[in-house]
Amino acid sequence: MNFSSESFSKKIAFDSEHLWHPYAALKNTPARFLAKSAHGTTIETADGLKLIDAVSSWWCMAHGHNAPEIVEAIQKQSEKMCHVMFGGFTHEPAIELGERLVEFLPEGLNKIFFADSGSIAVECAAKMAVQYQHSLGRPERCKLVALKGGYHGDTAGAMALSDPDGMHVLFRGIMPQHYFAERPNCRFDCPWDDSDFTSMERVVEEHENEIAAVICEPVFQGGNGMWLYNAGYLKRLRKLCDEKGILLILDEIASGFFRTGPRFAMMHTADANADYIKPDIMCIGKALTGGSITMAACVASDKVAETITNSKIPAFMHGPTYMANPLACAAGIASLDLFKSRNYAENVKRIESRLRANLEPLRSLENAADVRVLGAIGVLELKAKPSADDILKVIKDTGVWLRPFCNYVYTMPPLITTDAEIDRICEAIKRIGECEPAPVVEGEDEFHE
Ligand code: PMP
Repeated sequence: MNFSSESFSKKIAFDSEHLWHPYAALKNTPARFLAKSAHGTTIETADGLKLIDAVSSWWCMAHGHNAPEIVEAIQKQSEKMCHVMFGGFTHEPAIELGERLVEFLPEGLNKIFFADSGSIAVECAAKMAVQYQHSLGRPERCKLVALKGGYHGDTAGAMALSDPDGMHVLFRGIMPQHYFAERPNCRFDCPWDDSDFTSMERVVEEHENEIAAVICEPVFQGGNGMWLYNAGYLKRLRKLCDEKGILLILDEIASGFFRTGPRFAMMHTADANADYIKPDIMCIGKALTGGSITMAACVASDKVAETITNSKIPAFMHGPTYMANPLACAAGIASLDLFKSRNYAENVKRIESRLRANLEPLRSLENAADVRVLGAIGVLELKAKPSADDILKVIKDTGVWLRPFCNYVYTMPPLITTDAEIDRICEAIKRIGECEPAPVVEGEDEFHE
């Protein structure tokens, strides 16, 4: 596709008049890039820019853009059947993806509900927890406990479980009310401090009989603060939930599929004496299809699934139109084969040490508040953020696509990113860190993950 400069500006003008973009005003938004194609780590724009996708297109592009194995799988499946309803039908792509997931997921988590997006997987997890308690004759247990600083999606149920003072405050009126514990403050790389768990203990103690489940993003709180907390918290949480008959939901939508190092972030809880802790329900999404097509899943343990199945209302009451879409399943199968055949655990170790070497020195920048690195996640937290124009200039000058939000300049690159590309990404992060802080503009595109 070739764009003359006239058709290029016409298309951009149409976009700005008619198409909403995420977390942005319809009109007068900062300049947008017109993406033309994307392969591997790089997105090419219609006007010829080549940008390293340092945020994996919102964290999903684990194998890089347009992995040929995934493209081929979608093409082949599209010749046979693009979609069929999952109510009353099943199909081979769903079954084969299910088989691979059962092998890939932590042992005992093997009852899979396919959902269309991460937010929907979270909605399903919350509903499943409530239905589980109902099945046990405890219908009054219909609240969840979530963490301040968390992010679980943008639908009403998922917003209600995300940071109560964060990006969703405007919509409080349509959200169900849950309980919140303080954000875990003990850093990932510091010794565990047991006092960090006091707030959670207090909330559970106070509302024990109303609580169906606790939900959290294990170790890595992404969309609401790019925070990395101590895995000791999760061990304490598992124990507390077991003692109180409360389910534990781990949202691994962002942290799963090697992003923090191991296959799933919960695996950071393993130590010399004990296996890692497992949730009763987990959510996966984003990298599941290698970023090619939307699909997520809510996965329950045998205990949860059997309790619901053996109750008076054995059906789980949820059913999206595009549930287990065959094209998405085919993409998921190809993606899981790549996760299995490639040594991402090693790759992520390499990326982690390269990020660390490049980002740690940025602590000395005048505007730096903190640096955090874990797996293929690198964050430079600033004291104040630069202007959108300055950020855009760095992106264009360096050829690195970054999307800072609030005061966080971060990278979560594709897991195939080379050392040389990591160096370029970190150089771009540094340059943003060196920009002058901009005055805060009321109502500006401030919150977005
Ligand atoms: N949970 C977490 C931890 C996420 O990071 C996100 C998205 N960034 C979601 C849920 C929501 O996923 P989706 O955007 O696919 O609805």
